[in-house]
Formats: sequence, C-alpha cells, structure tokens
Amino acid sequence: MVMRRVYFDNNATTPVLPQVFEAMRPYFTEHFGNASSIHHHGQETRAAVERARESVATLLGCRAPEVVFTGGGTEGDNLGVFGVLREDLKDGAHIITSTIEHSAVLNTCRQLETLGMAVTYVPVNASCLVDPDDVRRALRPNTQLISIMMANNETGVLQPVEEIGKIAAEADVYFHTDAVQAAGKVAIDVERIGCDLLTISGHKIHAPQGVGALYVRKGTQVTPRLFGGRHERSRRAGTENVPAIVGLGKSAEFAHAGFTNGEVALMSSLRDQLQSALLHEVDESVVNGAGAPRVPNTTNIRFEHIEGEALVIALDLKGLAVSTGAACSSGAIEPSHVLTAMGLRPDQARASIRFSLGKQSKPEDVDFALSLVPATVAKLRELSPVYAK
Ligand code: PLP
Repeated sequence: MVMRRVYFDNNATTPVLPQVFEAMRPYFTEHFGNASSIHHHGQETRAAVERARESVATLLGCRAPEVVFTGGGTEGDNLGVFGVLREDLKDGAHIITSTIEHSAVLNTCRQLETLGMAVTYVPVNASCLVDPDDVRRALRPNTQLISIMMANNETGVLQPVEEIGKIAAEADVYFHTDAVQAAGKVAIDVERIGCDLLTISGHKIHAPQGVGALYVRKGTQVTPRLFGGRHERSRRAGTENVPAIVGLGKSAEFAHAGFTNGEVALMSSLRDQLQSALLHEVDESVVNGAGAPRVPNTTNIRFEHIEGEALVIALDLKGLAVSTGAACSSGAIEPSHVLTAMGLRPDQARASIRFSLGKQSKPEDVDFALSLVPATVAKLRELSPVYAK
C-alpha cells in the first residue's frame, strides 16, 4: 500500500501546478529560440517572455518594464540590496535591515559590512514585528537603503511595509522589500507599499525553482550583479530561462486569481482550523507571532518541552511533512534566528514547528495532521526527561 503523504511545508517550496507545467512544456522543445535572436524562433520566445512580464507586473501592481527576471529569490534579494548602493560616496553607505530577514538579505548585508559599509539590524518585538519608529531612528545622513521583508518565512508575520515605505520616501532612501513569502498569499501593490525594489520567487507560488523577479521602480538605477549581455535592459545578464519565465508568468496569473476565486480564503480557513484544533488539543502550545497580522497559510507553533527536529522526523515517518525554522549546520541544530530575535529561549525556539499550507491543501489533510500531531507530541513528551506532567 502506498503511504499517505500530506505536505504542509509550502513555505519551503510548492509543487508546480499542472497548468503551469503545461504552459512551460512547449518552450523546452518546440519553441526553443533564444529570446534575443531576431529570427522567428527568437521572436516567438521573446513574445512569451514579455507576456510573462505582463502577468508578473499585474500581480505586483507595476508596469511590465519594471520587472526584471532573475534566477530566484536569493538573486533578486542580492540584486535589490547591492544594486542601488553607491559605493563611490565619500561618507560610505549605511543600510537598515531587520534581524529576522531571510539569509538571502542577512548574508548580503553581512557581505556589505566586510566591504566597509555600515548596517543597522533593527529588532522585532515578541510578535515578530519591526517597529517603524526604530527604522526612523536608525536613519543616518548616509543611509542609502532600507531592506525589510514583507512577510517572514518562519512565522508568516507581515511587516508594516507601508509605514516603512513612507519613512523611506520622506528620507529619500531606497526601500527594498523581500516579498517572497507574501506573493500569492496577500495582495501586493508596489505603489501602496511605496517600495523601489521588491523580490519574488517562482517556487513559492507554484512555478519552478530557480526563477524569480525583482521589481525595480522606473528611474531606479541598479548595477547588475551578473555582467555580460544586455539582457533584462542591462540589469541582469544571461540568456533568459524562457520555460521557467513562462512558468513564473502562468503561476503569477494563478496567484492573482487566488484572491478572488476562493483559493486563498480556503487556505486561510484550513490554516485557522488546524491552528485552533492544535492549540485546543495540545497543552502548552503557543502560536509564535499570534499577536501580529500574518499570511493566511502559515502557523508556527511552539509545543513546549519537545525537540522540534524529533517531531519533524516522527511526523515524516507517519507521512506528514512540516518543518522547523532551525538550520542544521555541521550536525548542530542552531535555534532559529527569527524566533530568538522575538525573545524566545533557545529551547523554546527548538520546540517550534512551522505548518505551511498551500493551494493544494484539503480539509482531509488537516484531519490527517490532527490525527498525528497531538499524539506524537504526547509521545515525545513522555520520553522527555525534562517534561514532568
Ligand atoms: N526570501 C525569503 C523570505 C524566502 O523564504 C526565500 C526562500 O526560502 C528566499 C528569499 C530565497 O528564495 P529562493 O529559494 O528562490 O532563492
């Protein structure tokens, strides 16, 4: 018998939608042209790339020429952060970011520090929220960029990006936001946010891995990170990955439709059911970031007195895929930098599990999770020397 498997790790990656796959398929074989070629084959793929650009622009509320296709979210974040900095200014560059960014932004900022630039990492409160006043207070005369994410990948908490956008505009500082985990889950409108740069990634919205887009506001100069041909209006060199870009365009259309066809609403109600049933059935369980607005697919729950990694493995053996926010490096499990930034003790951070639902999630998937999680937590607690009932 085939084991039943339920996938609640959609913040890690999502399956490519069959319709997205079908849209991509002809661009591997039949329509194979290089989008820069001037003959028929090139014109065909160029037209497909430009249609995809329109679809992404519709999702983000921007104009098509403001969309730069990238090789994923990490590349978009790197281009967004590095791209606008003026290294030639004599008083150097200062950047403001937060302590809960994805490593694609955090490590980019650390790299900038090694190059002599100054970075302020603004903290978050216990609900995983950045205080816009902290951002305002961190401004310096030489601040060139604010990079604060729209939605956190571990807790799903939505940051006050519109307020931060206003602060950036008043200070005449560039504002980049990593919207990788927001796309398809909450509406994105670059005008309302007031950002100059915004990153999305294909594989979080049912397109393939290794493709993404960076919104670059008209008039904003970005220095490429990859040098070569004049692709993407000289902002990102390299022959376009046409099938992946077509997939991203199609997935953007589905992501946009999800706000009105009930898909996002269903995902949200399934998440809420899962979360409230778990809180009800498991003692000493707490939602990390519960006090803040969150994306509708994510709940990060701390089951006190357990090792999250052990719970993930035990659930996986029974067919449920979830994750911890912890990064496992060289055999040592580091507590999540996001949860510790919220003030959780390392043991509390390690006791936390992220459930992230997707468009393909069904009510019976929630039932399946509920049939496993409370009993597995109870079992792990029984085995735990530190847990006394
Ligand atoms: N930013 C956030 C918030 C993410 O969650 C991720 C992926 O987990 C990335 C950036 C990186 O995107 P990619 O995997 O496409 O490089």
